[in-house]
Amino acid sequence: MIGDPNCPICGGTGFIIEVDDNGNSFARRCSCVESQIKKINMKLSGIPERYLSCEFDNYNPINDSQKEALMIAKKFVEDYPSVTGGLFFQGPSGVGKTHLSVAIIKNLIKKKGVRARFYDVRDLISIIQATIGTDNEKGNKILLEASQIELLVLDDLGAHRISSYTEDIISKIINKRYNEKRITIFTSNYVDEKDFYEYAEELNEETLESRIGYRLRSRIFEMAKLVKIDGEDFRKKYLKNVIQI
Ligand SMILES: [Zn+2]
Repeated sequence: MIGDPNCPICGGTGFIIEVDDNGNSFARRCSCVESQIKKINMKLSGIPERYLSCEFDNYNPINDSQKEALMIAKKFVEDYPSVTGGLFFQGPSGVGKTHLSVAIIKNLIKKKGVRARFYDVRDLISIIQATIGTDNEKGNKILLEASQIELLVLDDLGAHRISSYTEDIISKIINKRYNEKRITIFTSNYVDEKDFYEYAEELNEETLESRIGYRLRSRIFEMAKLVKIDGEDFRKKYLKNVIQI
């Protein structure tokens, strides 16, 4: 058992030895163990350094869609694990999709002892790619962990360069999680055909479907509730450009 090395009660062993009414000694779990497990889970969550301070309290919504997204994220934490699926934060860069995803898993680790893992999709692919031929076992272990962890964040979907290989890695993970009804949170800058024109300029005229393929896109929509977030900043920039033309 893992105890807090600085615990004054158990001295880090995680156990307290007690004696029952019959004079038999037995070991009881020290109260520091639970908080120690949460600390370890936080370390293992893979939240990148630059997002470590992201909380609900320091997310500052500037429009209705951002207010709504914050509400949905908080409600998700409150309801978990009684949720029907994950969340899919979709919208232009800079609106706080990653911020909200990180705040969700940090809260769930702290409040509900959830085991969660954060991956930037590009990082995940390059980590696995780097193991091919050199350390296949490590690559398989990462794939397995991403497929099986209780809660997974796949950040920046569609940002990776598409090849049959990268598509395969992501499909494997997503399909396995889908089959086993595991909860996944996705974020993407890429939007759908119907929203196409608003973001077309920023996204180089590509849609989510053209980036990740029809099948994967449909699967994700089955697994997660869509949360669209607008960016006021982008709109301003867009309108300014239109006026200049
Ligand atoms: Zn202790």
